Amino acid sequence: MSYIGSLDQGTTSTRFIIFNNLGEIVGQHQVEHQQLLPKSGWVEHDATEIWRNTQNVIEKALLNSGLKVSDLAAIGITNQRETVVAWDRANGEPLANAIVWQDTRTADYLNNFNDADKSTITSKTGTPIAPYFSASKMAWLLANGVQPSPTLAFGTIDAWLIFKLTGEFVTDVTNASRTQLMNLETLDWDDQLLNIFGIKREWLPKIKSSSEIYGMTKDGIPVAGVLGDQQAAMVGQTCFSKGESKTTYGTGNFALISTGNELVRSKNGLITTVLFKLGNAPVQYALEGSVAVTGSAIQWLRDQLGIINSASQVEELAASVPDNGGVYFVPAFSGLFAPYWRSDARGVIVGLTRANTKAHLARAALEAICYQTKEVMDAMEADSGIKLNEMRVDGGITNNQLCMQLQADIMNIDVVKPVITETTALGAAFAAGLAVGIWKSPDEIKQIWKRERTWKSQSSAEWRDDGYQKWRKAIERTLNWV
Ligand code: ADP
Repeated sequence: MSYIGSLDQGTTSTRFIIFNNLGEIVGQHQVEHQQLLPKSGWVEHDATEIWRNTQNVIEKALLNSGLKVSDLAAIGITNQRETVVAWDRANGEPLANAIVWQDTRTADYLNNFNDADKSTITSKTGTPIAPYFSASKMAWLLANGVQPSPTLAFGTIDAWLIFKLTGEFVTDVTNASRTQLMNLETLDWDDQLLNIFGIKREWLPKIKSSSEIYGMTKDGIPVAGVLGDQQAAMVGQTCFSKGESKTTYGTGNFALISTGNELVRSKNGLITTVLFKLGNAPVQYALEGSVAVTGSAIQWLRDQLGIINSASQVEELAASVPDNGGVYFVPAFSGLFAPYWRSDARGVIVGLTRANTKAHLARAALEAICYQTKEVMDAMEADSGIKLNEMRVDGGITNNQLCMQLQADIMNIDVVKPVITETTALGAAFAAGLAVGIWKSPDEIKQIWKRERTWKSQSSAEWRDDGYQKWRKAIERTLNWV
């Protein structure tokens, strides 16, 4: 047996999962970290706390698995994307709290950019002008106390942790593609983008592939695979080929589709991103779309309406009625994202009659998750010209059988769930294992991946058309509200 450690540094917690060469979990440990919320719209993390937690979870996961550190053939890293750490390479100390992807403090700064700069950013990076991405956060740090110096380092969390683990100053191409400083075609920092944001190239890590040896830990273990979390989930789902897609269902949804070696620019508000670059093999691109409110709509039924006691109860309640009873629920709590991008929208529940019950609302909430996912996938099909016939899924809501059946019915597609649903951590382990020769090729990894279950569409075209038309009418009712 060979073993690979996967460090999954997420928005709320840090985990280390140890996989064997069959992709099975042999040990893990997880620790949460503090969410620092100094002002409305600001979200920060303490990079020192994240580093401390990293060391802690590695040690405890090894204990839990009964392994020694020297048993690890390699370490892979997957991480929350876009979050920025500033540190001093001379002493390895952070210069400020990390600014998290959710943080919106730089919205005004970005709004003041002229149209030419905005279109340069969008066309070179495949991303919209939004405080979500890293570059504006770096600019904010420079304007608010971080001093330029030859040893100044800006990096996403992967770069911070690689530096702490190995002393190397590098990042991977998937993380770099989320900074708004990397040119999607050259895969290098772009001088024009660096100028727009006032960032010097020497402050940034060297961009490497997602699967190669970046450096050695103090115990002599190679750090050999790095991918942003959503890209890692694609690799963990073995979506290695053009047209393959996965959707992760959590608080919100993240969907990606591989466009292979082709860089596809979206006309429907999707993000173009680097999917991965495995060693010397050519880079692969993806289109990415997200749905803001999916699992959080179920939390809303639980916490604000109190019609269920736990998220999993929604399935039983929704299954107690044969259909939605004409009820449609659009949880546009903070506007509509892709493909609409309407910040003036707010949530609606429509189609109510005296006969409706909380069960219909529960069912409408599950359908809302599915219709929103369908619309993002439709946008992906329209942009890429690829027709999907299967969608791989993971995340908390995939435990809801009814929701997954509705997803298959609404999209008329096969919905496929793998045995190992820790796809994010698994993807980073796969990338690291490829680099050190545990697996010889993506094809060999595909043999390890196993499906647990497939939901097949049982719907008629009439049912699908009728339901989707009503959903679209419900969407119209949300618009022009604020
Ligand atoms: P995240 O990683 O975003 O925190 P998870 O993958 O842990 O999310 O999923 C949690 C979300 O999924 C919560 O928003 C919860 O409301 C929802 N959820 C969990 N289990 C179910 C279920 N059986 N049916 C519907 N929603 C669920």
